[in-house]
Amino acid sequence: MTIQWFPGHMTRAKRQIQDKLKLIDIAIELLDARIPLSSRNPMVDEILGGKPRMIVLNKSDLADPKVTEQWTNFFKREGHECAVVDSSTGTRVGDIPVLAKQILSEKISKQIAKGMNPRAIRALIVGIPNVGKSTLINRLAGRNIAATGDRPGVTKGQQWIKVGTDMELLDTPGILWPKFEDQDVGYRLAITGAIKEQVLNVEDIAFTAVKELSKRYWPALSERFGLDSPPKDTEDADEIVRVMEDIGRKRGALMGGGRVDLEKASGIILRELRAGKLGRISLEAPYPPGVEKLLD
Ligand code: GDP
Repeated sequence: MTIQWFPGHMTRAKRQIQDKLKLIDIAIELLDARIPLSSRNPMVDEILGGKPRMIVLNKSDLADPKVTEQWTNFFKREGHECAVVDSSTGTRVGDIPVLAKQILSEKISKQIAKGMNPRAIRALIVGIPNVGKSTLINRLAGRNIAATGDRPGVTKGQQWIKVGTDMELLDTPGILWPKFEDQDVGYRLAITGAIKEQVLNVEDIAFTAVKELSKRYWPALSERFGLDSPPKDTEDADEIVRVMEDIGRKRGALMGGGRVDLEKASGIILRELRAGKLGRISLEAPYPPGVEKLLD
């Protein structure tokens, strides 16, 4: 389900999160490891204020591990500790309470020095729709808690879920909205399936996917679809469409007269990309292609 975010929804979502912030020690900002920037809410710093925070890159099973490592370094440089998880299997979700303890260690030490018995760390997961908030909550809880799928503005009685002995998690996540101003953001969200194809044109979505794949993952793309000539210039739209047509031809997505059915070809490309058939692909990297890290 695609949520329509109107200014009123945003204000309400922001207020709901800010109400919950009063109850917690740390916010867990959940991002999609394949698109850490596009899956980030543009106002997250303002909304979370000075609340301690960690960034969690989810769906790491689908993302390029080398690029994910670049992202964790990038966010560290921005001052955010970062965990990398796969909520669908639970891989490394155990890092989250450990990291929370580390981030709050000074506060915890102070409590101990005052003779207080430190209570469990209270946390809230925040993120845009489809990043995996419900899946992660269920993983951390070790059982099914939150219904997947979001409805902004619908509240229910919230409860604390125990995560081991040292952490408690609010059972309802904070739902943020994605960036809308930037068209590329919309397309990247659509490529990952976070925005439904009815909202954007499937051929445009696939075009953006093929363009990005041609830039960074030509070997994977050519191998999957049996292609032999890469686009001469990835900024040349005709060249990208030519690659899409090559894919269509290879897969027999044809219309009358032997013309390629671009819509059908687009569907094939997106389905296989989302299913991980092209391997682990990141659609955004903190550095340009071929650059491992930026020099200071
Ligand atoms: P929410 O809207 O943020 O609560 O996201 P959901 O928890 O409903 O997850 C959205 C979709 O992503 C679902 O189809 C999940 O099965 C899938 N998903 C969540 N986490 C992961 C992950 O780590 N890896 C993969 N491959 N899929 C995931």
